[in-house]
Amino acid sequence: MKIGVPKEIAAHETRVALIPSMIADLKKAGNEIYIEKEAGRLSLITDQQYAEAGAVILNDSKELYGTCDVILKVQPPTYSKPFKMHEVDLMQQGASLIGFLAPLDHLPLIGKLVEHKITAFAMEFVPRITRAQSMDALSSMALLAGYKAVLIAANSLGKIFPLTMTAAGTIAPATVFVLGAGVAGLQAIAIAKKLGAKVEAFDPRPAVKEQVKSLGGKFIEMELPEENVESSAGYAKEQSDLFLQKEQEAIAARLPKVDVVITTARIFGKKAPLLITKEMVELMPAGSIIIDLAAAQGGNCALTEADRIVEHRGVHIHGVTNLPATLPVHASQMYSKNITNLFEQLFLENAFNFEDEITKGSCITHQGKIVNPLVKERFNSKETDHA
Ligand code: NAD
Repeated sequence: MKIGVPKEIAAHETRVALIPSMIADLKKAGNEIYIEKEAGRLSLITDQQYAEAGAVILNDSKELYGTCDVILKVQPPTYSKPFKMHEVDLMQQGASLIGFLAPLDHLPLIGKLVEHKITAFAMEFVPRITRAQSMDALSSMALLAGYKAVLIAANSLGKIFPLTMTAAGTIAPATVFVLGAGVAGLQAIAIAKKLGAKVEAFDPRPAVKEQVKSLGGKFIEMELPEENVESSAGYAKEQSDLFLQKEQEAIAARLPKVDVVITTARIFGKKAPLLITKEMVELMPAGSIIIDLAAAQGGNCALTEADRIVEHRGVHIHGVTNLPATLPVHASQMYSKNITNLFEQLFLENAFNFEDEITKGSCITHQGKIVNPLVKERFNSKETDHA
């Protein structure tokens, strides 16, 4: 296979899909590796390092897309200004693509992939099963986001996190409230605890309670309507309006006493649940901070604006969308490992094995058709909307 890694062109993206240490094994398996010039620059990887690892450096993405059978990317393909063409239009007909594709949010991209008969695999759709853990880029990136969210909060708060007793008096620890304790939330709890904060958390999935406690966090019990809160895939299910209303009431009772809220609540394929209304923000002390990790999915706070810091009555709400890109060295390292493991699994045999759960689950388009049922349904309903 000729594997190509283009330079990411999405705004503020610093990651690269493959790092040099992955190249030797890919080559040993008979693949050739092509890297676009400066693809690793923002992750502090030079072209020389790629060349020394055995990759061929190509001058531009047009040459790369025209040469390779498999493209490894971080962000969904997008319009390339220098070539006045969409990246998918630069790809060879029938080539394969692996990357974050956010297919439900990028339906026109799906149309393009179909048109060019691209076999596309979305990192977001890799099933959350034990066998696929080493390919789970969502978890890798969520872990980094959870870590960075705490650092941003600590840096923005006009207080210190740890309990401090000095001759100048005693300083009470800051209180950090984490809403949604999946991968990002649990990491945020662990890091906030390490910095000495008092940490509270809530998540509707019952298994989470013990995980929060094991990290030293206090799980906030809430009286909520009994609902089936977890899907078979381990994700939270969409909650009813009554559930969210009761949850908001329970959160509101905590807000006057917290310094930082880190929200990470998401529902796969849906808009993020609204957990903090404008009126609830007004209950928070001036100077407190909300870090909304669900900003790209519409936000858990009503005042969140993606990629902006909004100030409301002294409370600062950070709508963060791509924190892993602020940690490009480790984000690229982890992503590169995940995508290489997925590539090796997908290309294990001469033809794609659609009986395999990982291949079947992550494939979005193949031979000019949308093969993922959820994406197909969304795509067809959008077509009907426009009809
Ligand atoms: P996610 O990013 O989709 O969601 C983040 C969190 O938001 C989840 O914990 C979810 O329960 C929570 N949430 C949803 N609605 C909420 C609400 N109203 N209030 C508060 N919180 C709410 O999830 P994720 O972190 O990617 O993964 C979630 C879980 O999936 C993990 O904790 C784990 O149990 C499971 N998982 C399993 C594997 C595996 O290989 N077996 C791999 C990764 C994840």
